[in-house]
Amino acid sequence: MHLLDQIAHWVRATPDRVAQISNDRTITYGELGTRSDALAAWLDRELGDRRVPVAIHGHKEPEMLVTFLAAVKTGRPYVPIDISTPQARVERVVEISEAGVLLTPENVAALSAGGAAYEAARKVGEGDPFYILFTSGSTGEPKGVVITLANLNHYLAWMRGAHDFTLGAEVFLNHAPFTFDLSVHDIYLALSTGGTIFSLTKDVAADFRILFEALRKCGATQWMSTPSFAQMCMIERGFSQQMLPTMRRFFFCGETLAPETASQMLERFPDAEIFNTYGPTEATVAVTSVRVTRELIGECNPLPIGHVMPGTEIIIRGENGQAVAPGERGEIVIAGPNVSPGYLRRPDLTEKVFAAHGSTRLYRTGDWGRDRGGMVFCEGRMDNQIKLHGHRIELGDMESNLRALDEIADAVVLPVKKGDRIDSVAAFVVLRGAKQGSDFEQAAKLKTKLGERVPPYMVPRKFIFLESFPMNTNGKADRKALAAQLG
Ligand code: AMP
Repeated sequence: MHLLDQIAHWVRATPDRVAQISNDRTITYGELGTRSDALAAWLDRELGDRRVPVAIHGHKEPEMLVTFLAAVKTGRPYVPIDISTPQARVERVVEISEAGVLLTPENVAALSAGGAAYEAARKVGEGDPFYILFTSGSTGEPKGVVITLANLNHYLAWMRGAHDFTLGAEVFLNHAPFTFDLSVHDIYLALSTGGTIFSLTKDVAADFRILFEALRKCGATQWMSTPSFAQMCMIERGFSQQMLPTMRRFFFCGETLAPETASQMLERFPDAEIFNTYGPTEATVAVTSVRVTRELIGECNPLPIGHVMPGTEIIIRGENGQAVAPGERGEIVIAGPNVSPGYLRRPDLTEKVFAAHGSTRLYRTGDWGRDRGGMVFCEGRMDNQIKLHGHRIELGDMESNLRALDEIADAVVLPVKKGDRIDSVAAFVVLRGAKQGSDFEQAAKLKTKLGERVPPYMVPRKFIFLESFPMNTNGKADRKALAAQLG
C-alpha cells in the first residue's frame, strides 16, 4: 500500500487521535488529512503542472507535517529548512533546489484552513523524489540528498519487519530537527502505524527544567536520537525508567555510541531495548542495527554498528576499489534499494560517491569500517567530515564560509576533542588587515558575520589569530602542526 494510503487509513479510522504534539500545539489525524488536502489543492493551483520541490522554512510546527504530506500528495518532493538556518543559506537552498515555493508555518496555517477533499491523482510514485535534505558540503555550498519513496519504503519495511510497533498506540519521541533524517524515522513510523509524534522543539531541548517536564509527561514508547542527546539527558539523575515509564525501545544513530553511554542507559532503563544503528542521509536514515546488551558491551569495545538490513549489502572496500579480506579495514560502501539517486543537480558530486550497482545504487560513505562475520564496525571518517553534538559538518564548509568574509585571508578549522568526543571546533585565522580590537572582540565580530552565512552550530567556538599558517611539504596548511597548538 502507498505510504500516503497507510496514513490515510488512520485519518479515516481514527480522525481524533493525535498525530503530533509540538510544545503546546497538537494536530489530530483528521486535521492532518483535511489540512494537507487543502494545501495540496493550493499547491496545484499555484504551481500548475510544475512538479517542483516545495520548500518550507520552519521548525517542528504541525504545519511542517501538513506541508510534507501536501507536497507528496501532489507529486512534489519537500525540502525542510530549519528555522536556525540564516537567510543567506535559506536562499541558497531554495535556489539550488529550484523550489517552486518557499512556505512558512504561518502562511501554511492560512493556506490549509479549509476546503474540499483532495483527489491525489499524481502523488509521488516509487521512483520519485519524496524529500530532499540538505547537508553540509565541503566547498561551503549545502548539497541536497534526494530520497525517493522507494528508498523510504525500504527503510520503513525493515523497521516494521524487525520490530513490533503496536498499531495506534506508539508515541515517538522526536528530538532530531526535521532537516535531519532521524526525524524521518519518527514521522513515518508514527504516521504509518497510527502513532503519535511527540516533538521536542529546540527551545524545550535547550532548557533542562522544561525538557524534563516534557519528558515526564510525553508518554513516549519509542526513542530515536543521537547518543549525544541521551548523554546530555543523563546529566539529570532522574532521567530513567521512572521518568519515562512507558519507554520500551531506544534507537541510537548518527554518531558513535560509546559503551559507557549504552551501559548507563541499560542501567537506567532496565525495561527498554537499546539499539545501535548506523547510516548516512544518502542511504535513508540507517542501514545497520544491533541490539546492545550487557553481553555485547562485555565482548566488544568499541561497539559494533551491527548487521546490515535485508536486501542491502555492505561492502568493505580497499583503496583499489576491491572488497578487502574479511575482517580487514576499508571504506564502508552501501549498496541497495535504500541508496539515494544522488545529490540534487550536482552530477559532479554524485559521480564521486555514488554508482550503479545492478538494479540499485551504491554509495561510498567515507567511513572506515570492517566486517567481522556479518557484524560491522565503524571506525571513523576518512575525510574532514565531523559530527559535532549530532550535527554533520564538513570542516571545509566552515572554512569556505570563513574565507568568504572580507576580513579573512585564510582559515583552517579543526575539531577540539574531550577524550574521544568532539567537544567544539576551533578556527585558525589569518586576517587580511590589522586585527580590530582584542582577540576576543575580533572573534566576536567574525562570529556575528559568519552567523549570517551558516547555522549557529557551524560557528567555531574559539578563534586563534596567526600571521601565517605552518606549511607541510605539499605546501598546504599543516593541520597536524595546528592541531598540536590546541593541546
Ligand atoms: P548523517 O548523514 O548526518 O546521518 O551522518 C552520517 C554519518 O554519521 C556516517 O557516515 C557516520 O560517519 C556517522 N554515523 C552514523 N551512525 C553512526 C554510528 N552508529 N556509529 C558511528 N558513526 C555513525
